[in-house]
Amino acid sequence: MRTVRTVAELRSALGAARGAGRTVGLVPTMGGFHAGHLSLMRAARKENDVVVVSLFVNPAQFGPGEDLDSYPRDEAADAALAEAEAVDLLFAPSADEVYPAGFSTRVTVSGLTDVLDGDPERRGAAHFAGVTTMVAKLLNMVGPDAAYFGQKDAQQALVIQRMARDLDLPARIEVRPTVREPDGLALSSRNAYLTPPERDRALSLSRALAAAEATVGAGERSAGPVLAAAHAELERADVEPEYLELRCATDLSPVERVNGSTLLAVAARVGRARLIDNTVLSTHPGGKPPGDPPRKRSSGDPSRKELI
Ligand code: AMP
Repeated sequence: MRTVRTVAELRSALGAARGAGRTVGLVPTMGGFHAGHLSLMRAARKENDVVVVSLFVNPAQFGPGEDLDSYPRDEAADAALAEAEAVDLLFAPSADEVYPAGFSTRVTVSGLTDVLDGDPERRGAAHFAGVTTMVAKLLNMVGPDAAYFGQKDAQQALVIQRMARDLDLPARIEVRPTVREPDGLALSSRNAYLTPPERDRALSLSRALAAAEATVGAGERSAGPVLAAAHAELERADVEPEYLELRCATDLSPVERVNGSTLLAVAARVGRARLIDNTVLSTHPGGKPPGDPPRKRSSGDPSRKELI
C-alpha cells in the first residue's frame, strides 16, 4: 500500500491502472478505522481491481462546538489496518491540499438535508454541504467506478446518492450494511469517547431499534406504538433522543404508517459522544427479507499488487 498526499500524486498513481482499463473503488473516511470501515474496504477490494481509501477529517462538516479537534486521529494505526485489507492507495491529504486559499465553492443538496441531522436545531444543512462538497471533490480527484458508504449514516448515503444522480457523477454509489458489536452497538469512531457505563447506556439506541422491529414484526403498523416501543428502551437507559423518527427510506418524508420502506432513525448524546443509528423496518413476516439484491462484480486480478 502506498500513502499519497496530493491530488497530483494520486492521479499519477492511478494513471497506469486506469489506462489499462482497471476498475477503481473508493472508500471515503475520516479515519479511526473500525470493522465498519474495514467492511467497506473489503467490499471495494472484492469488486474492483484497485482500491483507494481516503483519510481526511473534513473540517467543513463539523459545526461550531462539535468535536473536530478531539476527533480520533491515528494515521499509522489506520494505515496498518488498511494495508491488512489489501488497500492499494491511502490518500491522506492536508487541509491545504483539499481547501486551497480562496476556496469558495459548495455543493448542496436541498430537501433531504433539512430534516433529521440536517434540522437547523441539530447539525444543520451546513453539515451535509460539508459532506457533499468533500465527496464531490473526492469523486473528481479519484474518478472511481464505485464509491462505498455505510448504511450507518443512512441520511448521508441518501444525500450522496441524490447528489451523484442529480449531477450525473459517473461513479456507482454503493451503500453497505451497518456493522455492529455482538451486543448490537453500531460501530462508530465516536464510541471511543464512551466510558464503560456510558457504553452500556449507548446500547439503548440499538435496543430501541430492535424493540421497534419487534413491534412491527408483531403486526403493528401505526407510527405511535412503534415509536413508543423504541422510546421505552431509551428511557430505561435514561437517554434523551435528539430525534427518534420514522421516515420514508428513499426520500425521508415523514410517515404515519410503516410500510416496506420505512427508516427508523435515532440520534442521542451519551456522555461526550453524539451517536446515531438506524434501521429499515421490515414488514416481511419473520423479519428482514432474504438476501441483498445481486451486485455487479468486476473480475478479481490475482496480480493486482503490481498494478500501482
Ligand atoms: P467516517 O469515517 O465516520 O466518515 O465513516 C466513513 C464511512 O464508514 C461512511 O460511509 C460511514 O457510513 C461508514 N461507517 C461508519 N460506521 C459504520 C458502521 N458501523 N458500519 C458500516 N459502515 C460504517
